[in-house]
Amino acid sequence: MKKGILNYTKNELKELLNNIDIPKFRADQIFIWIYRYGKCSFSHMTNLSKTLQDQLDKEFYIYRPRISNVLESADGTLKFLLELEDKNAIETVFIPEIRPQLNNSKKWNRATVCVSSQVGCSVGCKFCNTGYNGFIRNLSVEEIISQFLIVKDYLKLWDSEDRLSNIVFMGMGEPLFNYENVLKSIENLMSDEDEGLSRRKITLSTSGISSVLLKIAKDIPCRLAISLHAPNDGIRSPIMPINNIYNVASIIDACEEYTKYHEYLKITIEYLLLKGINDSKDCAKELVKLIRKLNAKVNLLQFNSWNGCQFEPSDQKSVNEFSEILKNAGIETTFRARRGEDIMAACGQLAT
Ligand code: SF4
Repeated sequence: MKKGILNYTKNELKELLNNIDIPKFRADQIFIWIYRYGKCSFSHMTNLSKTLQDQLDKEFYIYRPRISNVLESADGTLKFLLELEDKNAIETVFIPEIRPQLNNSKKWNRATVCVSSQVGCSVGCKFCNTGYNGFIRNLSVEEIISQFLIVKDYLKLWDSEDRLSNIVFMGMGEPLFNYENVLKSIENLMSDEDEGLSRRKITLSTSGISSVLLKIAKDIPCRLAISLHAPNDGIRSPIMPINNIYNVASIIDACEEYTKYHEYLKITIEYLLLKGINDSKDCAKELVKLIRKLNAKVNLLQFNSWNGCQFEPSDQKSVNEFSEILKNAGIETTFRARRGEDIMAACGQLAT
């Protein structure tokens, strides 16, 4: 049976090739064809002999999911509905950021791909449409990586000046519950230095699985975003039941540990403002006390409503007051505008 070549890291591929008498250095060439030039067929890898192309073709395939649908938002965000081999579906979101000073030859200043790590999610955050729909299975390495590659295929970016500058693991699923595959995916996506995807351009967002967070500090060379959404267990547990296992204190301890290894990488604290739940001035003050000792910034998020949810977004006055308290305490604070809301591609809205 053929093997999916995207499932292997470069070192693993070298070993596999070695076992079938192909020199290990061919793995370097194959990786460049796949990750820099987006080739989906060995016959297009022109510095490999025809015999070698045929041999690779007998052993491996280069995976892409099927695009079932693409929805385009008024703000340029694209939501891809992708069908996997077993007919399960996942969603991937492309988010361009266009600023006025844009050089004419480029379409955007920065473009982020938000990838899924699982089909569904078992964490069950009450405000999240993905969690509401339950968990089906983990994604394989090739299913994670191919989300990024297929966006490049679709937008015809392989020969373009425009790049996908950032990847965030913020789509469907809790990445730390699919730890090994997410780790390998990050390693492969960072394998081509020319592509410019460094550790600073990849962000892993987690609901705070503190036991695995301690491992991440050593294993994963990327940015970290923690979906905290509350300053204490009393508020967090009802909206994020996972907090009954991994509570606020354990998450903060794990973040401190992460900072020891990655002093220069600021942690992002994601905070979704829910009207009357976690958006009071007292909550803001408590949050300041909680995270003051961390090297962290806060990203306030506007809640995006979906059919059947029980929450409402905070009003502008509460958002401003909350934000001011954080800023006055010297905490870098941003407020993330809704992106792709009209196509249900905004944070917490992904569900096939
Ligand atoms: Fe899962 Fe993230 Fe949704 Fe929580 S917010 S249920 S972790 S996908």
